[in-house]
Amino acid sequence: MSYVVLARKYRPRSFAQMVGQDAVVRALTHALEQRRLHHAYLFTGTRGVGKTTVSRILAKSLNCTGPDGSGGVTATPCGTCQACTEIDADRYLDYVELDAASNRGIDEIRDLLERAAYKPVVGRFKVFMIDEAHQLTKESFNALLKTLEEPPEYLKFVLATTDPEKMLPTVLSRCLQFNLRPIAPDVVQQHLEQVLASEGVSAQPAALRLLARAARGSMRDALSLADQAIAYGGGAIDEAGVRAMLGAVDRDHAERLVDALARRDGAALLAAIDRLREAGHSAAATLEEIASLLQQMAVAQAVPEVLDDADPDTAGVRRLAAALAPDETQLLYSIVLHGRGELGLAPDEYAGLTMTLLRLFAVPPAGGPPRPAAGEGGAARPAARPMPAAAGAAASARVPVTGPLVDRHNADASDDAAAQAAPARSLPAAVRERSATPDVAHVATPLGDRWAALVDALDGAQRLAALPRELALQAELVAVDDAAGRWRLRVERESLRTAPVREKLQAALAEHLGRAVRLEVEAGVAHDSPALREAAERARRQAEAERIIRGDPLVQQILAQYETARIVPGSIKPH
Ligand SMILES: [Zn+2]
Repeated sequence: MSYVVLARKYRPRSFAQMVGQDAVVRALTHALEQRRLHHAYLFTGTRGVGKTTVSRILAKSLNCTGPDGSGGVTATPCGTCQACTEIDADRYLDYVELDAASNRGIDEIRDLLERAAYKPVVGRFKVFMIDEAHQLTKESFNALLKTLEEPPEYLKFVLATTDPEKMLPTVLSRCLQFNLRPIAPDVVQQHLEQVLASEGVSAQPAALRLLARAARGSMRDALSLADQAIAYGGGAIDEAGVRAMLGAVDRDHAERLVDALARRDGAALLAAIDRLREAGHSAAATLEEIASLLQQMAVAQAVPEVLDDADPDTAGVRRLAAALAPDETQLLYSIVLHGRGELGLAPDEYAGLTMTLLRLFAVPPAGGPPRPAAGEGGAARPAARPMPAAAGAAASARVPVTGPLVDRHNADASDDAAAQAAPARSLPAAVRERSATPDVAHVATPLGDRWAALVDALDGAQRLAALPRELALQAELVAVDDAAGRWRLRVERESLRTAPVREKLQAALAEHLGRAVRLEVEAGVAHDSPALREAAERARRQAEAERIIRGDPLVQQILAQYETARIVPGSIKPH
């Protein structure tokens, strides 16, 4: 018997089984129950959140005839009639899925629209689903638009996209839009627990927490990672195995680093970084783990009662939350996120990690007075006091801010005013200098061009998930023998060089190119990977945005007028 991957085996077949998309499910259920049917639906959201799944359930709802053949449109498709079983099996004549990432041409759309002229063969409605619709060419969009304007009553369109901003406004305005959100890590973790319990696979909660976090809101990636973890762990999932598989860093390492930072103990910090290098952990994974720890610390400082004391990480989070002031936690979080983005530009990733963490040392302690010496402990500092603003600030770190935040702050202000300006108060000149235009050099090679274009196409077609995708993004293409079909990649992270990861990427590559491919992966630092290209491009856009803002006459006027005004680092976001 062949093994069915978890993501396919546990694909939801009804709205009730959908996980983490309550708002969309509720809206669609009401619409179906009240027969308020629209002729075009648009589902937006990042990869793996359920766009195709919800489209299939909608198609079943529209065409279900019930177990006895007398049912009508329903929000709870029966799962047993012809429509339900054939849509689930992907062979229903009146449900068509077109992947715009691979079928972008006008011919495919014309072909689809010709089929639209005929009434449904077996069902009540024809449902055409166009995935990655933003990738359609302009001619295709225009051809589609005519049918979208005056569709026959038996025709329903479902468009899905990861990038709604690239859709023509005329198309958007004809669609009823639903946003599928990235799924929260604890929801993903609970779902993994249920799935693995019904598979009879034993799994440690801490291991599932790691998998849920690594999936970044995508249930499909979470299930795909769980598949790999089962294979890696020989049938069981434990924390050490998952950490090794993900290249994830132990929480202990992150705590040791933050502890050294809180005590401003440079020697302890460098020693902790050395241990990381010896353990073979990547700098990127380290910064991600530190960011995750800092985010939990900010929550502990703002709303301590929401932390889950059953979580083994919580004790460490509480201890460090008391040792670092809330505004410094915020500052360090911002430094760590920036450092993560710049890591690809550093000559050596540990040098990048060290520089990033030492930045906090360049900043005088908040509030002016000298810090307590190491060992005296920081629990008595005002840090332990809940500061409601901190949670909001943590959330806003992920929300793009469109304009620059210019903080007008009077150094002689009363304590109250100073407290309100707390996050900005501790961002002095040392940090301001840091965000000066970086000089981004980027090694671009012809093989790098070829690899970046190929990975972009594979990613657009959603042929890659989780670790194989990470390998594609992090690797440099160092040699190709087209005649023999041999491709050689170079990547540093050991967890990306394992056979299962390589074989998955190899299979996706072969499928995409339509010929046999042999992929070899060697150990070494990549100098021209798609990830590095993206980091360089981001840095370039950031520098450009900062240059424009700094040149803005109004900003200059404010900076000149108020001696203590400064542009808050990280508040400028390129479009
Ligand atoms: Zn049915």
